[in-house]
Amino acid sequence: MKLSPAVSALKPSATIAAAGKAKALKAQGIKVYDFTLGEPDFNTPEHIQAAAIAAMQAGHTHYTASGGIPELKGAICAAFERDHGFKYQPNQCLVSNGAKHSLHNVITALCGPGDEVIIPAPYWVSYEALVELAGATPVIVGTTEESGFRLAPDDLERAITPKTKLLLLNSPSNPTGATYSVAQLEALARVTEKHKLFVCSDEIYDKLLYTNEPFRSWTTLLGGIPERTIIVNGVSKAYAMTGWRIGWTLAPADLTSAMDNLQSQETSNPCSVSQYAALAALNGSQECVAMMLGEFTKRREYTLGRVRKLPQISMPEPGGAFYAFFNISRHFGKPLPNGKTYANSTEFCTGLLEEAHVALVSGDAFGAPGYVRLSFATGLPILEAGFDRIAKFLGG
Ligand SMILES: *Cc1c(COP(=O)(O)O)cnc(C)c1O
Repeated sequence: MKLSPAVSALKPSATIAAAGKAKALKAQGIKVYDFTLGEPDFNTPEHIQAAAIAAMQAGHTHYTASGGIPELKGAICAAFERDHGFKYQPNQCLVSNGAKHSLHNVITALCGPGDEVIIPAPYWVSYEALVELAGATPVIVGTTEESGFRLAPDDLERAITPKTKLLLLNSPSNPTGATYSVAQLEALARVTEKHKLFVCSDEIYDKLLYTNEPFRSWTTLLGGIPERTIIVNGVSKAYAMTGWRIGWTLAPADLTSAMDNLQSQETSNPCSVSQYAALAALNGSQECVAMMLGEFTKRREYTLGRVRKLPQISMPEPGGAFYAFFNISRHFGKPLPNGKTYANSTEFCTGLLEEAHVALVSGDAFGAPGYVRLSFATGLPILEAGFDRIAKFLGG
């Protein structure tokens, strides 16, 4: 079949593909230690589920306003003010079908052919694809392991051209867990402000932070830069609500109304019941978030301890999110205890899955050859058994 140029160039999401391979082995009855998952393993907290049931029973099963119910927009603005001391108005908020959809809205509404979008690598798998779908050009800027995978202001400056429209920044980062200090963020913001660039700050992991410094939203840098900032966030990661598909943007009002227009043509409103669930998540007790963060903190500690003991592996400490992103390149081209030799991360991941039944995602998917991503959003006993197998595979 002859497909459109945009869609025929599209690669499937590599993380979803890696999880699919693990699932296929599981379907054969094989026990797989699966660390590909980019989502919390917890169930959605009870009070949020109850709010969804109540919403259905109250008849909230019809179309809503395309950009979300006013109560939820109000709660999103109130939560942002509570967390960051900056007041957005509801006409600057758009609720969408997950943060991924929000990113699509931002990129499609702002960028088109001739525009360049700067993406620091390692990057989340969908950034590059969404930019290409919009007909714009992704400009990948590398970061180093030594810098903790943080974008350097000089490298950012060098990548800017008269065509640069937008910087896509994700802190804490998926896949690396990298976070930035306020000073580091402001050094980047001075560059983007000098060139009057829009910055889309993907803050989906803002509640999953292991550093002492509190999270600082891009909007509030340099005394406040809301006119060129788009915040992307959602309930998926902080409230274990990946399946409900609620995300949002906080952005200038004119851009918000353009994105609302786009969304009204493409999808209409995000699921009505999910919107009421998200409302309960934001307005209810935040204890569930603290409980899950407590668990992630233990798993992170355990993961760091085990990664450090693996032979010939290096990794900067992840400051947030729930991923360990480590360098396995010192093993390339040398036989492992199983007698086999692997030349790159993708071959390594395939070998590890087939022989040790441990599933990781290859760094190649994130623009970072030589690395692998392990998600520690899974129980400690599974982590323990998985690391035992990885250690044995590497001869450690
Ligand atoms: C999970 C994730 C998202 C998307 O979240 P949804 O709300 O489930 O669509 C966006 N950005 C990053 C970096 C993520 O890891």
